[in-house]
Amino acid sequence: MSAWSELLSESLGVPAGAASAVERLSVRPGEVAGRVRAGGGRGSVHEVSLIRPVPPEPERERVCAALASQPVFRARILAEELPVAADRVFALLGWDLVPRSWDALVATCSCEAWESRCAHLEAVAAALGAEADRDPFALTRWLGLDRRALVARVRTLSPAAAQGPPAPEEAVSGGGAEAPQDVRGGAVRPSRPAPPDAAATSAAVFWSAPAIPAPPAPPGGTGERVRASAPGLVADELPGLGRPGA
Ligand SMILES: [Zn+2]
Repeated sequence: MSAWSELLSESLGVPAGAASAVERLSVRPGEVAGRVRAGGGRGSVHEVSLIRPVPPEPERERVCAALASQPVFRARILAEELPVAADRVFALLGWDLVPRSWDALVATCSCEAWESRCAHLEAVAAALGAEADRDPFALTRWLGLDRRALVARVRTLSPAAAQGPPAPEEAVSGGGAEAPQDVRGGAVRPSRPAPPDAAATSAAVFWSAPAIPAPPAPPGGTGERVRASAPGLVADELPGLGRPGA
């Protein structure tokens, strides 16, 4: 898979060239909104909305910790790039960057045919793919993690941060002080003593956790689809996931 638009086209069955009718596209947490003009520029205008759940804060933290713990993804994200392969990390944690089917979305259109997935929905989905090729962080923004937030959190959670000068608890800013506790609380035995530098080590804690809690709404068959699209790569690139204690 070479581009986000291909991944999106494959998942949603969007025809090539469908995006040309989209006049405006906006992406915010939970919603992609688009304006589509039908009939080659002189037709009626329709408003499309593609809605998906935004992961709760502990889930966003898990995703950032997982990305931070993988050297390849960490380096690319800190360079403000998002490789297509990162989709597998999101998918394995139950939060596909690219929805795996229309069933994963609430898709609406102002036309009368939207319940049978009108062409306007497909046009906006295609436009989202084109936008993701230009700026992949549009997809993370849809999941509630815009570029700035994602890069900052991956930086905070990366092992390099743990090797830097020790910072007092008070110096950890914003959600960084609280969110890793959610990760730890959900993934580690209660009897395990909490490390003092929780924010810096939460990525390592994540991958070494004895049990990974199930995401709230895991899409069925994600693992099979991921393996089908990338046979042999997932287990190699994500050590520890699904193999507690490894
Ligand atoms: Zn429509």
